[in-house]
Amino acid sequence: MEKKYFDAETKEQFRVMLIILTVVCVIFTAVYYLRPDTDVAADSSVDKASTSSTAGDKKDNLSKNESSAAVKVQPPPKLDGTQRAVKLDNSEVHKGNLILVNKDYPSDINGEDLVSLFEFKSSAYGVSDANVLINRSIVDATNRMFDDYYDIYGTNDIFVACAFRSYETQDELYRAELENNPETGTELVAPPGYSDHQTGLVFDLDRLSSDIAGIGFDGTGDTRWFLDNCANYGFIVRYPEDKVNITKYEYEPWHYRYVGVPHALYMYENNLCLEEYIEKIKNNTKDNPLVVSSAEGETWSMWYEKAYDEGDVTQFAVPKDCECEISGNNVDGFIVTVKSGNTE
Ligand SMILES: [Zn+2]
Repeated sequence: MEKKYFDAETKEQFRVMLIILTVVCVIFTAVYYLRPDTDVAADSSVDKASTSSTAGDKKDNLSKNESSAAVKVQPPPKLDGTQRAVKLDNSEVHKGNLILVNKDYPSDINGEDLVSLFEFKSSAYGVSDANVLINRSIVDATNRMFDDYYDIYGTNDIFVACAFRSYETQDELYRAELENNPETGTELVAPPGYSDHQTGLVFDLDRLSSDIAGIGFDGTGDTRWFLDNCANYGFIVRYPEDKVNITKYEYEPWHYRYVGVPHALYMYENNLCLEEYIEKIKNNTKDNPLVVSSAEGETWSMWYEKAYDEGDVTQFAVPKDCECEISGNNVDGFIVTVKSGNTE
């Protein structure tokens, strides 16, 4: 005889319980997925200030430390149909090709995405050794500049004497300079944390045929070409002869700093050093941008967006489908660069 475990009534009770349990599970799942998103840190649409990629490509910028509800986000900008919002963590103010690093604005940047220039350089110039490091994103511009110089002058005795310097190396240099030249030490060598060289966007040039290190590249003769043409490749002479009172550095015709083509062109054409440019562009808004064109017919619009000073995340509008780059200024905001067209 077949053994009966449950009678019909118990079976019915089980069936009802199973239905109730299923309904509870469905409700719980629905509530979990449909709840309002109150934690801004869960929002992954924060862009990274970047000069090497289109803003908006890089996501998830908020660090885990900031993933508390305490993160304060600037109210979103009003957008028309042609715009999109960019969200940037305020720490991005201190990153990008346009950061101003000087005696007033130190930086804790210690190079980013560094590569050995020796490995990637063209044959048109030399480097002092394989330990010369620069940011990967400026290798092509560097090569193009030297290739064009070589095409004109046919000499490859110019070399990159030094580029990125770590905090530790800068500290050693500064101490040595202070010891050797207590009077002038701080004019020629920056204290650690205050050097343009730590950006990785910089190099000093010299020439092999020179007897005295650093003096062979004096900005005269054929080396004048670099001063007059570096802007076409995105570089500036960081410490110009007539800006010593602003940069607080002696004239250094050998020290080149990458800032990007449109900014370098504007600074060159208007005789501005980086300090002056960072100040000047604060007057330019999205509706009143600086507009710069290259000899090749490329056109850019550039403007300033102040970092949200009542919170941690800044928001502003940029054209929806623009080729758009954003850099911090290492002072108080961001500089937006939009390629607005090519007239050719
Ligand atoms: Zn230098």
